[in-house]
Amino acid sequence: MQPRDLSSHVEYEAGRGIEEVARELGRDPEEFVKLASNENPHGPSPAAVEAIREFADEVHYYPKALHADLVAAIADRWHVADEQVWLANGGDGALDYLARATLEPGDGVLVPTPGFAYYGMSARFHHGEVAEYDLLASEEPLEFSFDAETVLDAYDGERIVYLTSPHNPTGHRFTLSDVETVAEETDEETLVVVDEAYGEFTEAPSARQLLDERDDVAVLRTFSKVYGLAGLRLGYALVPEEWANAYARVNTPFAASAIACKAGLAAIDDEEHVEKTVGTADWAREYMREEIDAPVHPSHGNFVLVEVGDAETVAEALKERGVIVRDCGSFGLPQCIRITCGTEQETYRAVEELNEVLAE
Ligand code: PMP
Repeated sequence: MQPRDLSSHVEYEAGRGIEEVARELGRDPEEFVKLASNENPHGPSPAAVEAIREFADEVHYYPKALHADLVAAIADRWHVADEQVWLANGGDGALDYLARATLEPGDGVLVPTPGFAYYGMSARFHHGEVAEYDLLASEEPLEFSFDAETVLDAYDGERIVYLTSPHNPTGHRFTLSDVETVAEETDEETLVVVDEAYGEFTEAPSARQLLDERDDVAVLRTFSKVYGLAGLRLGYALVPEEWANAYARVNTPFAASAIACKAGLAAIDDEEHVEKTVGTADWAREYMREEIDAPVHPSHGNFVLVEVGDAETVAEALKERGVIVRDCGSFGLPQCIRITCGTEQETYRAVEELNEVLAE
């Protein structure tokens, strides 16, 4: 017995942690800073940590049915019905639920390139066919086009269209009116998924606004970034009212752990931590744009895309110097690295080391 033919499936390239990198290089983990996975440099929300401790001895209970408390808090925050919140094991899990809820075998999904690999992976798990729209407007100079036309030119009746806004790894975003145009111009049976995993880092309005009038838009959010809970795996989709009843038919029973739900509930109200995180990202983006001796793309996320020439070599040299960044070769951008916004100290260090590497 073998698994089904998975040869066309992409492997998820999970970023390696400091421990692993330090072990590989035979060095002390203390020497490293990791700015490769867009994690929160301030750590988890302290309120969430307290909740995790407080409820640790209750994990013999199953989570509340449908994660009621957290779902109600999220629904309240977005002014949607509880049933419109599809809680999941990370944003990735929410992508799976949306694919499960929409795709029949052979249905198409339209994904951005460069873009987040899991859209295509999730579609393939659910027997979908992947097509791409190209965000690259010009290679030299490196420019991207984020507008409805770019997406619609490639659209050919796919069942799901993914828009990442702010986009990983470029940092650009779609305007709300472009999102609306894509939803308007695609078939009634096409769902537009607006992935706002980095939504808290931009002042641009959320596509949540479109849910009141449309039944073909879903919005993805995560607790991994601004709340600093990536290790707990907690995310959700906001779906149209008309979709409310589908969740129970597609979700994994107890989609999120009880501890994750308690932590999420605490984090969502921890405004101080959110403000600090967003403030640091605002500062670090600007600092990197001004100080790095290479083109840095404007970003609405907690990271920047930097054109360094040979990303693999530069990322390796930075790693040797104790700064772990993302080589964007696997995104199809072998000339770019992506650097997460760190604390002030981390960001100063990354910029200093990078400028030295670039000058070598
Ligand atoms: N969407 C985008 C664009 C991302 O970059 C990520 C995480 N890297 C996710 C979704 C999923 O995040 P998570 O599963 O941690 O919620």
